[in-house]
Amino acid sequence: MKTLLVTGGSRGIGAACCLGAAREGWAVGVNYRGNRAAADRVVARIAGAGGQALALAGDVAVDVDTMLDRLEAAFGPITGLVNNAGILDKATPLTEISLERWQRIQDVNATGAFLVLQKTADRMIRAGVGGAIVNMSSMAAPLGAAGEFVDYAASKGAVESLTIGAARELGPHGIRVNAIRPGLIATDIQADTGDANRAERLAGTVPLGRAGTAEEVAEAAVWLLSDRASYVAGAILPVSGGR
Ligand code: NAP
Repeated sequence: MKTLLVTGGSRGIGAACCLGAAREGWAVGVNYRGNRAAADRVVARIAGAGGQALALAGDVAVDVDTMLDRLEAAFGPITGLVNNAGILDKATPLTEISLERWQRIQDVNATGAFLVLQKTADRMIRAGVGGAIVNMSSMAAPLGAAGEFVDYAASKGAVESLTIGAARELGPHGIRVNAIRPGLIATDIQADTGDANRAERLAGTVPLGRAGTAEEVAEAAVWLLSDRASYVAGAILPVSGGR
């Protein structure tokens, strides 16, 4: 069985990754933090199409062992991870970002990504069957998100360094680690910036002239998980309309 965990799988890019991976035969753990109804909807869509999925409650900064134990009890050893859960906060000048906010963003986006990758890799190494890990970075990492959320951009910089180091360290175990840099993608996270129309407002700044969809990011994630990407490791792939 191909067993996959998608953190933050209940909504947005993560939900699209769950649905796309299930179509390729992955049994999917749909992790969520608070939105049980959304996770259940993803599970129901997968089951309705003949696939296998399980909703897994848990905070990526806290509950990783519990969610991995439940996933492996249901579907067997984990062989795939989309390390996707992430948050941001209202657009704010860097001089006004509080220490509490900085730590909250790093806890989920950097520490959470580290913990999920570390504990997943440990299980993959012990099972000895290799695997594929896709970390969800952001174009904010190379661009910096000036005037909006440099705290978030810095957390994604951590995700990218983690990707490079993990790819080199885990490659000899047959574990491929890569990252995706989504650009401006129309999901709920845009409203968390304080402007529900952010994706429309900034669409003209994207060379392709529009915001992307969660499904367009999921296409890349599902490919990176698959054997079709068997020689791709340590890559950081922009899915950003050229931004
Ligand atoms: P979204 O629509 O806001 O969905 C966020 C998901 O993460 C939800 O499933 C949420 O669960 C989950 N989550 C949040 N905090 C969590 C935690 N502590 N533990 C476990 N799950 C948690 O976001 P999105 O736009 O799909 O973004 C997904 C990833 O892509 C993030 O890492 C984000 O930084 C990255 N990204 C997005 C964009 C974009 O433009 N949308 C661009 C670049 C990068 P609940 O449903 O339970 O709240």
